[in-house]
Amino acid sequence: MLSNRTDTIDSAPSSQSAGRLSAKILASGSNGNCLLVRSATTALLVDLGIPARNAAGALDGRGVPPAAVDAILLSHEHSDHAIGVGAFSRKYGTPVVADPRTLDAAEAAVGAINRRPLARGSTLTIGDCEVSAFPVPHDAAAPAGFLIRSGGWTIVYCVDLGSAADSLVEPLAAADLLILEANHDYDALRLGPYTASLKARILSPLGHLSNLEAARLIAGSATGRPRTVWLAHLSAINNSPRLAKRIVGSVLRRERISGVRLEVAARDTPSLCWSTDTAGWQLPLLA
Ligand SMILES: [Zn+2]
Ligand SMILES: [Zn+2]
Repeated sequence: MLSNRTDTIDSAPSSQSAGRLSAKILASGSNGNCLLVRSATTALLVDLGIPARNAAGALDGRGVPPAAVDAILLSHEHSDHAIGVGAFSRKYGTPVVADPRTLDAAEAAVGAINRRPLARGSTLTIGDCEVSAFPVPHDAAAPAGFLIRSGGWTIVYCVDLGSAADSLVEPLAAADLLILEANHDYDALRLGPYTASLKARILSPLGHLSNLEAARLIAGSATGRPRTVWLAHLSAINNSPRLAKRIVGSVLRRERISGVRLEVAARDTPSLCWSTDTAGWQLPLLA
């Protein structure tokens, strides 16, 4: 089971309608990752791998005062996920939710933060969102993916993982919106300009996920229920949005997986939006 503990962070009440959930990619890739999730009463950032002032500007531009962010969920301490966490947490007092080992490693890199430990395998209630953390295979202190549930909807965030472990199928199967790494094309990486040691690190079981491995994980966690899948954390050198979508789409068609709307997150600019207001369109898929 994913949950062995439930705890709470309060958030301010809102006049918005109950049961809404939305997500917006603010950045995705090895230059920085940041996702904004909003429910009826709660605003969450998932990773903050861009400068804090850039994140604050992006939030302001979307009508979310940075001080109104209820928590930052931190998947792991690598700089492309954590570089802005210290300055943002200190300036706005925002709790940083992560495994204790991730919090230790992040503080060593970015200074003091408002710590809110959430061990992997545990669940935390933040406003009207229930957040569960699950382990992922990656070369960091205690890397995690997150399930965020609100109003009967579930967003699953799973980036920076070196292999499609069987333990991931259960959490990924819960997703109405799945954000999953599709880092590289295997051949592009193998034949590309990276050093042998960097190639070995990326290809290791604790490295990064290829398009094909992502496709197998999406197919293996399909339940037949309609869902949106965002391919994220693409390499600028060893992948392209077109290639990732083509490879993943072809595997899903071959496996006769229906009900998946497949999109690719842009690396350096705010890109994809998802909202439960429009999620009901999810019928003809896999264009
Ligand atoms: Zn990363
Ligand atoms: Zn990483």
